[in-house]
Amino acid sequence: MRTTFNIQVPGYASTLMPRLGPFLTPVAGAPSGCTGTSARVTGPIRATGLRSLQIGGMHLDLPLYRLPSAAVNAVLQESEALIPDVGSLEALLTRPCGWQWWSAVQDIASQPSRAGGVPTGPLQQTAQWQPGETYVTMNRDWITVTLAFDVHTTHMAGTHDTVIGVDVGQTPLAVALGDQFRSVLPGLPPLPAMPLGVPEAAMRLAQVAVYGAARQQWENLFALMLPRASLIAVEQLDFRGLQARFQQQCHDHGINDATLAWLPQLAREAGVQIARVEPAGTSRLCPICVRPGDRQGAILHCATHGALDAHDVAAHWIRRLGELQQLNKWQAKCTARRSR
Ligand SMILES: [Zn+2]
Repeated sequence: MRTTFNIQVPGYASTLMPRLGPFLTPVAGAPSGCTGTSARVTGPIRATGLRSLQIGGMHLDLPLYRLPSAAVNAVLQESEALIPDVGSLEALLTRPCGWQWWSAVQDIASQPSRAGGVPTGPLQQTAQWQPGETYVTMNRDWITVTLAFDVHTTHMAGTHDTVIGVDVGQTPLAVALGDQFRSVLPGLPPLPAMPLGVPEAAMRLAQVAVYGAARQQWENLFALMLPRASLIAVEQLDFRGLQARFQQQCHDHGINDATLAWLPQLAREAGVQIARVEPAGTSRLCPICVRPGDRQGAILHCATHGALDAHDVAAHWIRRLGELQQLNKWQAKCTARRSR
């Protein structure tokens, strides 16, 4: 099937667009689903390693590691990527970041690049990038690049009979709750401090590794959740407060991509509905007696029901809000039909 992935280019829309202009042909509608004017890329396009996309004669600094595995692989194959020691990078990506992690990052970064590197093993999936269907959408403040892929997927036979609510955080990274379903993503352990004067290549690999570790957790959750879910309710996330701290930022990018870009695509493919709900207050109301409790850290204290896991409580209400949203949509549809 054809699937698309959006990557936001940070800032500078007004300076980038005039330079990209000669390589773009305007199209009606935005394939990205974002607001703004869209154009198809008609000039030469290739990915250069994990860090940028070259459109016409121009480099866009796009972190391509923010693609799902299959898509990253496709872009790399299309572009004869230059990656230092692919095997070690891969090992780093699939391993939680812990002690010795920082020196491993520096070791890989100090190795000479090799041409034509194509990842193997866990990153090897079947997808084909369609560079001819790459779109650029300009918003007032940012540029979104939409990449299209033909993905060959095997459909898992699923029951699709459970409504699942997902509470997103840092530690845990996520709690997913359904009728007979509960799954917790632990999140990343704290990293050793970054020494000053770190080489840029090491910084970049470190970002890839932190993001990759978070991504691995999301991919595990999706694999468990999608065959069972009929509806997945997830928080409407707000990334305006994206923090500057290094690990936090990579972590947040992982949450952003997992919930906004991959989940909707994977869900559509699996025939699972998605509801996005307002999470405010969901961790502070007792799910049994529906009275406000006292939240202290990860625990919600209910006067009647005692100590409850606040993340489970949030996932419970997010699930209920998702159901309610579907009911409201359905009632609006029925009412409109009746009034005709
Ligand atoms: Zn209670």
